[in-house]
Amino acid sequence: MDFKEIRELLKDQPKYRLEQAEKSLFQGLINNWQEAIGLPLNIRKKLDEEFPIEISAETFVSKDKNTIKTLIALEDGLKVEAVLMRHEDTRNTICVSSQVGCPMACSFCATGRMGFKRNLEIWEILEQILFFARYLKKVNEKITNVVFMGMGEPFMNYKNVMTAIKILNDKNGFNLGARHISISTVGVVEGIERLENEELQINLAISLHAPDNKTRSEIMPANKNYPIEKILKAVDKYIKKTNRRVMFEYLMLKGVNDSDEHAKELIGLMKKPLYFVNLIAYNPTGIYDPSPASRIKKFKEILENAGITVTQRQEFGQDIEGACGQLATKN
Ligand code: SAH
Repeated sequence: MDFKEIRELLKDQPKYRLEQAEKSLFQGLINNWQEAIGLPLNIRKKLDEEFPIEISAETFVSKDKNTIKTLIALEDGLKVEAVLMRHEDTRNTICVSSQVGCPMACSFCATGRMGFKRNLEIWEILEQILFFARYLKKVNEKITNVVFMGMGEPFMNYKNVMTAIKILNDKNGFNLGARHISISTVGVVEGIERLENEELQINLAISLHAPDNKTRSEIMPANKNYPIEKILKAVDKYIKKTNRRVMFEYLMLKGVNDSDEHAKELIGLMKKPLYFVNLIAYNPTGIYDPSPASRIKKFKEILENAGITVTQRQEFGQDIEGACGQLATKN
């Protein structure tokens, strides 16, 4: 099922019907078309038959109840994961997938190790968001942020990801501000170049994870095609064009990329306006150990003392394997 089908289905209807249907779906957050009471019965029936919107999912809730993971069953039997993170402030961030599996094969990442299955369709991306929007509606809350940091490499599914984002952002669609939407990439340069030409103020994050090509290639095979200097050149062009901040994600892997020397080398790369570093505590998935908190603190200080802006990612949902990089279906 593809989202375009809904347009196709309603093409003989007056134009406002499509708008009505989309509004019921994305703003009314109906669970099935029968609930779209503004639409005539025959249209509801047709939509229910041809474009069902029930979502079949299994959910897992962390002990502290702040992380909820969902495993959504797709039409072809594959499954995809998305995670809701309820921050202490009022933010509700959802981390969505762009592919089933991932072709990037990063050695520290559970999804990377499961290999690549296929790209997600537009509807399959939207469905992850709708699932949590419906979930939060029951407690009178809303999704405030969407990050493409689940399974997959979003820039390897550029068109569907961008179309889903446009529907998310559209005022007849989900109506979520572009500034509340982020894409994270291993550094697919073609994607960065395309993004700078979109009229959309979404956030860009780069998974850097190492300050030199040797270390980076060891943990991220994609570095062979997209080495650090190539990525930074594309990012500089992107910043020049958009004047937007860019986040560099840096996963702290014990004994791999977390020494004082690594921090000093990173300073050399990051000393530019609108760059900032986001340090990520590693969620162990097998072969590496996370850097101890004291090491992360020291690493952070070295960067900060050199005038680099550094943030640290809040940890979520380890107990339900619902954290970044732990999304991989076990079947
Ligand atoms: N393919 C994209 C988006 C998906 S991964 C990318 O690489 O950016 C989202 C983020 O989670 C990336 O920064 C990724 O490196 C990080 N990540 C992967 N495995 C992780 C793990 N086990 N613990 C913490 N972060 C992880």
